[in-house]
Amino acid sequence: MKKISIVTGASRGIGREIATRLAKEGHFVALVARNEEEIRELEFEIDSAGGKSRGYPLDLSDEAAVEAMVTELRAQFGRIDILVNNAGIGVFKQGATISTEEWDRVFEVNVRGSFLMTRAVLPAMLEAGAGHVVAIASDVSKRTFANGALYCASKYAQDAFFSGLRKEVRASGIKVSVVYPGLVDTFFHDGNPGQPHRAEYLKPHDIADAVAYILNAPAHVVIDELMLHPLVQDY
Ligand code: NAP
Repeated sequence: MKKISIVTGASRGIGREIATRLAKEGHFVALVARNEEEIRELEFEIDSAGGKSRGYPLDLSDEAAVEAMVTELRAQFGRIDILVNNAGIGVFKQGATISTEEWDRVFEVNVRGSFLMTRAVLPAMLEAGAGHVVAIASDVSKRTFANGALYCASKYAQDAFFSGLRKEVRASGIKVSVVYPGLVDTFFHDGNPGQPHRAEYLKPHDIADAVAYILNAPAHVVIDELMLHPLVQDY
């Protein structure tokens, strides 16, 4: 095994593809998401193909579960080299109609969830003087749109956290990279991949390629930010 990695939101969409790619590259992958059946299915698929993985079915809003998972992983391997904060949700409606519960839930997963996971792995990375934290943000971490106020606010906040963190941990040998995808053909927001109007969207493997490029940069290079769009997207 080359590196010990964690991918959140690994049960489907972009996260599933990133996890599969990391496993193919010879890394151990801890698969995090709530849907146990999908996580176990991917674990089986990776391990049958000769890779190494373990599923951790948990909700990222559960602080104790996140801490316990990272503690277990660190106890087993003694280190954590890569964290890909990919899990995310969206609620798209006019700001005036957003409920407090919807607001809290989006921030709980997109912002607090990636913070909790990152805070949990940092002690191991700081001790090793190395590590790479990647966040899958969004192109709407840098622009807004109508009916997207809540989602954009969460993605701006997530981006700001990781940009600040990059400056804090760089001197300790830890890299922080943020990926900003445009439209990707996934299950996001009850989406249904494979529909004809999405034929030219980015595919999950495009994002996995970007993450692999970032992670495989030479030791002296940190790719701070990487934004990608489908050519057909008007933004
Ligand atoms: P997706 O197909 O809906 O997958 C989302 C993943 O997040 C699932 O594996 C889901 O698993 C997991 N997840 C959601 N809530 C969770 C929670 N509370 N705890 C643990 N895991 C949770 O969406 P996707 O398109 O792959 O999205 C991945 C990331 O890309 C998100 O951060 C999204 O904001 C970002 N993004 C997507 C697009 C796009 O157009 N699709 C564009 C830009 C950025 P469970 O349901 O099993 O928990």
